[in-house]
Amino acid sequence: IVQRRISVRTQDRSRQQAGSCRICIRRNLVDAGLLTMASSESPVEQPMIGISFTQKTMAARKRIALVAHDHCKMFLLDWAERQKDRLARHELVATGTTGLLLQQRLDLPVESMISGPLGGDQQLGGRIAEQRVDMLVFFWDPFEPQPHDPDIKALLRVAAVWNIPVACNECSADYLLSSPMMEQAHSHRIPDYATYLQGRA
Ligand code: PGA
Repeated sequence: IVQRRISVRTQDRSRQQAGSCRICIRRNLVDAGLLTMASSESPVEQPMIGISFTQKTMAARKRIALVAHDHCKMFLLDWAERQKDRLARHELVATGTTGLLLQQRLDLPVESMISGPLGGDQQLGGRIAEQRVDMLVFFWDPFEPQPHDPDIKALLRVAAVWNIPVACNECSADYLLSSPMMEQAHSHRIPDYATYLQGRA
């Protein structure tokens, strides 16, 4: 039996979703006879406040956004070279410097935005909101403050809003790229914008 320790941490509105996730984990433990569930703990399905969702199909060929802060660029380049065969099957887009370095190292087409501190993170965030990016590999620097910190937060936020997979280091990026979902179309939950707009009008 392979066991993993999974931590579920959430903030604000995603608390409800994680709440039902915790309930699912508890249910599995109850089903396995490892836990008893009090009746007061039975799940109550509640939508997130003000947002309803719909399903979207992600194509087999993914549009992968890649970003690395300066001290992490070496790690991203080494990782990308190791994963070159897999990355070659998808479309790559990156912030300016990261894109140029990736293109040189991999000899693969990489669409480059403006450099991150000059607005590249915002461009990628815009593409995620337009549903033109399926996945984000972002090796952000945990040791160094960045001048464009608000842009970085905005990029990570919009990736969470649109429910795209995000990897923040080599290990999570390896897990993502080796997923069977990388090679197949699959459906995932995204905000239902038409309904959202209707509710605000
Ligand atoms: P860069 O930008 O690829 O142009 O270095 C990355 C970032 O700092 O966001």
